[in-house]
Amino acid sequence: MEKTLVILKPCTLQRGLIGEVISRFEKKGLKLAGIKMTWLTDKVLNEHYAHLSDKPFFQRLKNAMSIIPVIVCCWEGIDAVRVVRAMTGATNGRNAAPGTIRGDYSMSSQENIVHASDSPENAAIELARFFKDGELFDYTWLQTACVYANDEC
Ligand code: UDP
Ligand code: MG
Repeated sequence: MEKTLVILKPCTLQRGLIGEVISRFEKKGLKLAGIKMTWLTDKVLNEHYAHLSDKPFFQRLKNAMSIIPVIVCCWEGIDAVRVVRAMTGATNGRNAAPGTIRGDYSMSSQENIVHASDSPENAAIELARFFKDGELFDYTWLQTACVYANDEC
């Protein structure tokens, strides 16, 4: 099954929305494969946001992402990358559709609650960036038989 990375950003921890956002992924039927609290370093943020290094908001974004710790988690499921991106919504919370995480909880283009991997290739790179060997777990998830038809997985 496909795995994807979600980062619950510092704004989410400050606003007391960690449980609420995790609950959405659980209720959707995604399997939690790993979760931890970590304080992001400048080195990791330079890698993670390399595609934005020429943007005027790059330093501001890095500051916001390292002001307090974040929660990183790995969610697993069929088409997990696409499903989680759809649940996340547009980058700017003011433009994100109601019903999406950003659409429901964010009013900002920066303080937008979650990061979610945007492709299976990037998900693999990002999961390797944030989780060491042994921090992602393969276990029997009893919900599988209720979440999927038996010929889907
Ligand atoms: N960001 C920002 N201002 C912008 C665009 C992006 O502060 O105009 C921040 C925002 O926190 C976003 C992150 O940079 O989540 C990464 O940007 P990306 O374009 O990868 O958007 P995402 O994949 O998070 O929707
Ligand atoms: Mg992105």
